Amino acid sequence: MIDAKLNLADAAKIPLAAAETVVEWGNVLIVAPHPDDESLGCGGAIALLRRFNLEVSILILSDGTLSHPNSQKYPKEKLRDLRETELKSAAQILGVGEKSVKFFRFPDRAVPNANSPDFDSAVALCLDYLTQINARTIFVPWRRDPHPDHRAAYALIKAASENSARIIEYPIWLWEIAESADAPRVDEVTAWRLDISRVFGKKQRAIRAHQSQTTDLIDDDPQGFRLTENILANFAGDDEVYLEEKR
Ligand SMILES: [Zn+2]
Repeated sequence: MIDAKLNLADAAKIPLAAAETVVEWGNVLIVAPHPDDESLGCGGAIALLRRFNLEVSILILSDGTLSHPNSQKYPKEKLRDLRETELKSAAQILGVGEKSVKFFRFPDRAVPNANSPDFDSAVALCLDYLTQINARTIFVPWRRDPHPDHRAAYALIKAASENSARIIEYPIWLWEIAESADAPRVDEVTAWRLDISRVFGKKQRAIRAHQSQTTDLIDDDPQGFRLTENILANFAGDDEVYLEEKR
């Protein structure tokens, strides 16, 4: 079959890796376009890695300020600070201390992509950071995840890592709003699941630490973003689905 799509709908058919496999990953970097992607996509993996005492760093690319663009109570800088505080709380729950968290503060929805004039300087910034933390495995959003910042995150890290690290991709919006062209093809990646049942509760608590996204905390912006229970249901399983380039 040409362009055959990977079947992610039937989870039972996706191979399941035991929790212990995380020890093979070495030092890990989690790259999240927005505060919350780390917990939604990789919360279980992070908690397991920390349980086995492996180093985990978290890099947040955007400032997250477009989640509630019209709030009077939370103007831009205050919203940014709130989201960063929420991220640190989530990281803490998963076992990652503040020192291992980095914020690049690119404007929300404008994380530099390959067509941006500032792409090369953004790649250089990422390269600097990657060199500093020397991660052996890097988690990034699925390359065609249907959100511009998620695709940009993949492009930036792919360019900066120069194949020096193992790259594992995690889907976020692919579960919700993907068009068929966004779907992974069998000829490009393989899918596998990680058993996170041992740390399921931690992942859920970490997600809920992002209160500005999961509750009415910011109640004065009718256009405010909300991780609804329907969306959260995509991340409520005791496994996490990952994609990885065919080797
Ligand atoms: Zn995101």
